[in-house]
Amino acid sequence: LADNAMYKVKQSGRNNYKFVTPSLQKEADERLSVQHGLHDALNRDLFELFYQPQINFITQAVSGAEALIRWQKPNSGLVYPDDFITISEESGLIVPIGTWVLEEACRQISSWNTHKKQLISFISVNMSVRQFQQKNFISEMQRIMLNHNIQPQQLELELTESILIHNLDETKRKLFELREMGIRLAIDDFGTGYSSLQYLKNLPIDVIKIDQSFINDILLDVNDRAIVQTIISLAKNLNLWVVAEGVVNQEQYEFLKEKGCDSYQGYYYSKPMPMAELLGVIQDKNSELSAGINIKY
Ligand code: C2E
Ligand code: MG
Ligand code: MG
Ligand code: MG
Repeated sequence: LADNAMYKVKQSGRNNYKFVTPSLQKEADERLSVQHGLHDALNRDLFELFYQPQINFITQAVSGAEALIRWQKPNSGLVYPDDFITISEESGLIVPIGTWVLEEACRQISSWNTHKKQLISFISVNMSVRQFQQKNFISEMQRIMLNHNIQPQQLELELTESILIHNLDETKRKLFELREMGIRLAIDDFGTGYSSLQYLKNLPIDVIKIDQSFINDILLDVNDRAIVQTIISLAKNLNLWVVAEGVVNQEQYEFLKEKGCDSYQGYYYSKPMPMAELLGVIQDKNSELSAGINIKY
């Protein structure tokens, strides 16, 4: 701080001063510029959903796909969610962005329904805390599903543990309403949050997604191996579906399969990509599979 030239910002009518360093100023400017960019992206439809398949260990079929948002920023190329989700949470922009994501995923499902071509049975969508906390979240869900005429089992919502700990009573009520509607609920990044076993018991959860940080070193780290094994048996005993995230190689795949994990996502099968491309990948892999060649996934 000392070497930085400081300048003072007088706060509204009071006699207290806040010191702002140039680097803090720069950060604030950047934040503002990202916010403008996000507004622009909403207005000009510059967001895009990429999809990453989930593969069933037993049938080898793609069961679902996770929708992951990308921002096609003019002159900058593809921007990934880690670079804008936090800012959109803080600014509240995550609410219209989240609605856009839900609408877009439902449009995709709806187009499968009209063309009676459904290679993937559900799409899962990531929820943010702020989006989920909206008073009208449930009625918005109902509106969107009705609007696109989709079946509830075609949609899954991914909730982080941070969503579950906020306003527990309110959250619980909403989750039971979603369950009532027939929408499947998953806990994302399982094991990284406030992992209370209480909510596995009390909340209508259908799916656990084991965070990729536990999968990364599964072959090297005995603790990670033990944790993953334990999460899998916990899920089995509670009758939950269990998905491993971030599977990148055959050894991880074999381990998880042997331990009875239900399905997986990861670069080992496919990166997230636009739906049109992904359908091509799935078709290629399916024909390899039926020709009995090179079955490694
Ligand atoms: P997530 O929901 O846990 O998604 C998994 C992330 O891991 C994705 O990153 C995915 O591309 C990446 N991934 C998948 N397989 C592999 C792998 O084998 N290796 C590695 N290293 N990474 C893999 P992405 O797309 O950058 O998304 C990051 C996070 O941003 C997501 O984590 C999710 O929390 C958030 N996010 C993405 N889309 C949305 C959205 O539409 N709404 C909200 N609220 N959050 C979103
Ligand atoms: Mg997710
Ligand atoms: Mg995750
Ligand atoms: Mg994550």
